[in-house]
Amino acid sequence: MNNDTIAAISTALGEAAISVLRVSGPQALEVAGTVARTRKPLAELKPRQTQLADLLDKEGHVIDHAMLLRFQAPASYTGEDVVEFHCHGGLLVTQRVLELLLAAGARAAEPGEFTQRAFLNGKMDLTQAEAVMDLIHAQSTLAMRAANEQLDGSIGREALQMREDLIHVLAHIEAFIDFPEEDISPETGEAMLARIEAVRDRVRRMLATAEHGRILRTGARTVICGEPNVGKSSLLNMLLGFERAIVSHAAGTTRDTIEEMLQVHGIPLRLVDTAGLREGGDEVERHGMTRTGREIERADLMIEVVDGTRARAETKRVETTLEGSRRLLVLNKADLGVHSSWSADEGLRVSSVTREGVEALRAAIRDVVLHGSASMMMDHPVAINARHKSCFERVSASLEATLESLLRRDAPEFTAIEAREALQALGEVVGRVDIEEILDEVFRSFCIGK
Ligand code: GDP
Repeated sequence: MNNDTIAAISTALGEAAISVLRVSGPQALEVAGTVARTRKPLAELKPRQTQLADLLDKEGHVIDHAMLLRFQAPASYTGEDVVEFHCHGGLLVTQRVLELLLAAGARAAEPGEFTQRAFLNGKMDLTQAEAVMDLIHAQSTLAMRAANEQLDGSIGREALQMREDLIHVLAHIEAFIDFPEEDISPETGEAMLARIEAVRDRVRRMLATAEHGRILRTGARTVICGEPNVGKSSLLNMLLGFERAIVSHAAGTTRDTIEEMLQVHGIPLRLVDTAGLREGGDEVERHGMTRTGREIERADLMIEVVDGTRARAETKRVETTLEGSRRLLVLNKADLGVHSSWSADEGLRVSSVTREGVEALRAAIRDVVLHGSASMMMDHPVAINARHKSCFERVSASLEATLESLLRRDAPEFTAIEAREALQALGEVVGRVDIEEILDEVFRSFCIGK
């Protein structure tokens, strides 16, 4: 448990109308009271009520007029006593208030520490804590929805349900360890197998969302390539203008690693290697081209643009080993007419000028990136992250081992070891590893031999 009280500026640094500081911990009221002069003592303020306060420095000079908001443990974000300061958003003001809170006995919070406390105090599980960051970092509407689903506990609930099912199975197995004279009846054996198989299938379904999870969190790696003047930049600009994009020029990087995000049907696309695209010019273009080759091989999506008015035979195509299902061919400049040498089912006919064909292109992009599971993703935007994936992979392996062990009719001691491993890994998903406790409880409800 945390005995100290932490404080931090919770809003982004910079000039703004308001800036929020948070204090959390057992001394939150005391610390806040040292800095704030209020009409009535903070302790008398009803939880979740606001009151005006003068914030004073040690000499009694007013630093700011702020609004204070009090939350009483455990009904707060962290589960502790919390006081929020809504100050004026000046850089200096905000910094000064923080300094005063620290001088009054608070400790500067580490990154993520408020959420960490929320987790430690049982306000949320580990997947929800992760979702807080996912939500903050979300760069597309679908990523935002997935983060909200996760924040709502969708992944945690699923993991906990599986865990409960497995605890039941393990309790049975352990019962046979304790009462070796009892034989596993065929019905019980069948029921256990069925239960494990059901959990295994659910784990598989979870694992199947890992790829979407990666794409939602970091964006699908997208390369737009093709010869000069075929309309790559025009196409990109058109797509950028379609859904309001979150443009993130990675700061401090060299020109050829500038990456931009755009979203198509809510899916974040991370454009890699836009150097040749944006800058033009021989030097950059050449430099960009060698990089492009490498990027294409690792891409989630390659959009190859050609000038559709030119004959197929005269068009230089990109050579790549990237699988066909990840590639899209765009016959651009369709407004000027597509050359007869292109067959009807070849490529998507698009005009970056008239926007003809853009809907078909956007749908094709969505299908390539979501690999045919677009509707599943749109309806249930649940997507595990890399940590969940590694946990679920261990669960999956341990469940297979448990099944094999049961089918081999191993001594229950051995089967239990495998089942426990699966439980352990499932617990790690949500950050709970207290198997014993729960097991005892479930076990107590059994009455074999009694
Ligand atoms: P990039 O070098 O591949 O990036 O090509 P740009 O986007 O710079 O386009 C090259 C030229 O083609 C420009 O003059 C564009 O206006 C023109 N262009 C691009 N797309 C289209 C299109 O769909 N239709 C027509 N008619 N012109 C286009």
